[in-house]
Amino acid sequence: MNSRGIMELTNEAVMQTYSRLPLALVKGQGTRVWDAEGKEYLDFLGGIAVNSLGHCHPRVVAAIKKQADNFLHCSNLYYIQPQAELAGWLTEHSAADRVFFCNSGAEANEAAIKLARRWGKANRGPDAGHIISMRNSFHGRTLATITATGQAKYQEGLEPLPAGFSYVTINDLDELEAEIERQGDRLCAIMLEAIQGEGGVNVADRGYLQSVRRLCDELGVLLIIDEVQTGMGRTGKLFAYEHFDIEPDIFTLAKALGGGVPIGAMLAKEEVAKAFSPGTHASTFGGNPLACAAALAVVHTMEDEGLLERCAKMGEYFMEGLRGLGKKHPSLVRDVRGKGLIVGLELSRGAKDVFLACQAQGILINAIGDKVLRFLPPFIISEEEVDRVVVVLDGILNGMESRN
Ligand SMILES: *Cc1c(COP(=O)(O)O)cnc(C)c1O
Repeated sequence: MNSRGIMELTNEAVMQTYSRLPLALVKGQGTRVWDAEGKEYLDFLGGIAVNSLGHCHPRVVAAIKKQADNFLHCSNLYYIQPQAELAGWLTEHSAADRVFFCNSGAEANEAAIKLARRWGKANRGPDAGHIISMRNSFHGRTLATITATGQAKYQEGLEPLPAGFSYVTINDLDELEAEIERQGDRLCAIMLEAIQGEGGVNVADRGYLQSVRRLCDELGVLLIIDEVQTGMGRTGKLFAYEHFDIEPDIFTLAKALGGGVPIGAMLAKEEVAKAFSPGTHASTFGGNPLACAAALAVVHTMEDEGLLERCAKMGEYFMEGLRGLGKKHPSLVRDVRGKGLIVGLELSRGAKDVFLACQAQGILINAIGDKVLRFLPPFIISEEEVDRVVVVLDGILNGMESRN
């Protein structure tokens, strides 16, 4: 099928929930992807923070093939070796003692909300089911997670929404303290992203996160950190919370965990995890052998190839290049921010035009609203590839300036 055929059939038969770019990708290798006509693109979006090892990493491909020869699925009625090994690896390398596996970021956050509420009722009292989350956050598309998401546009037309959520602005401690006071005994958890991804690559202040942790400890409520986008090395550390020298009570993973195979995980400290007992939560596919075998290949490859260090180093190099653009185009570039390879470039205008122009020149990135360009490249990008992106952006920004 050519691109046109793929697009026509999609527009006819697939539910219209996405405004797609007119691009049908059929193949990828490393940092490159190709459309159905063989046009090559440099992938600086990585399937929205999923393909952190690049496309078709040989170790991930081999693990998937090997697991497919054994079996793909058996259900959580039985013990599953790759699931046990993955949980062992994740708990050994994180603040958590136990893992619940599911299939997506929204499901991981849904599980976190359920666990926090069960923990709240068992430990704080019958009313303790309220969660304070952040404006401009993103936690997924189930009914509970759009309600945890502090952006009205994701909630419109879906009322009645589940009760028990309220919002504050990140980095405003006074507002959080007032909301905590207001919720009193109803509160069971505070939920946030250490770096808001969909919200525009907004990095939380170090002092703020440390204060939130201290408040949670003083009050005896839980801190839930959504690491669906920032986790698995994206920020140059395995989990973003490590940059802030704090530990969450619950955190969630998905996007990059399976190297492209759908998998989500909700992780918690033992004291909190105890609030789930057999029968309180479940998932048919969660932690299935295929997804866990792929995720194990991802984590072992990251370790063996030093990809965390590489992500941190390339992130610095990339942001340095973008800061250079800021100096050259002070009227267009407002801010460069991020950590590791979750990078935002805030413009005064025209982000959508810039991202379309990049695509026309064979580079895939993303725009959030009309102000922020978001980059989520694989950790295996080279300095030459970063240079190319910076040069292309420079040319586009030059063009915008000369038109005014
Ligand atoms: C993408 C994302 C989600 C939702 O993940 P899905 O797999 O699409 O359900 C939740 N939280 C954050 C921070 C995300 O970036």
